Amino acid sequence: TVGCVAVDNEGNLATATSTGGLVNKMVGRIGDTPVIGAGTYANYLCAVSATGRGEAIIRGTVARDVAAVMEFKGISLKEAAAYVIDRVPQGTAGLIAVSSTGEIAMPFNTTGMFRACATEDGYSEIAIWDSPSK
Ligand code: ASP
Repeated sequence: TVGCVAVDNEGNLATATSTGGLVNKMVGRIGDTPVIGAGTYANYLCAVSATGRGEAIIRGTVARDVAAVMEFKGISLKEAAAYVIDRVPQGTAGLIAVSSTGEIAMPFNTTGMFRACATEDGYSEIAIWDSPSK
């Protein structure tokens, strides 16, 4: 997966997700990436892009659930993202997300996930293949 989430200085949010799917996938399989609400979702609260085993991400409506949990539990993006990732099967998923206020979350329950972060003023951080405990 190559996923991207973005917020501008007015709080406008956007997300995009691309994938080649899983290795040895069944002919005709559609993963989570093109399913809005599963692998990709943005609303007025946050933008989310997920990666991992698409079947688990679709069943968990992972990307939409982050926004829903934020809204209905009234919790932060980080808390909502961790809550959602904790509820999909271990070893299946991770996500990147940003909120309208610029909060960033990048939880995963797999062995690792490449991710990077950049801001308008040039700050950037590349976290490479961290384990979930870091
Ligand atoms: N989520 C994708 C899929 O299941 C695989 C990936 O992470 O790229 O199709």
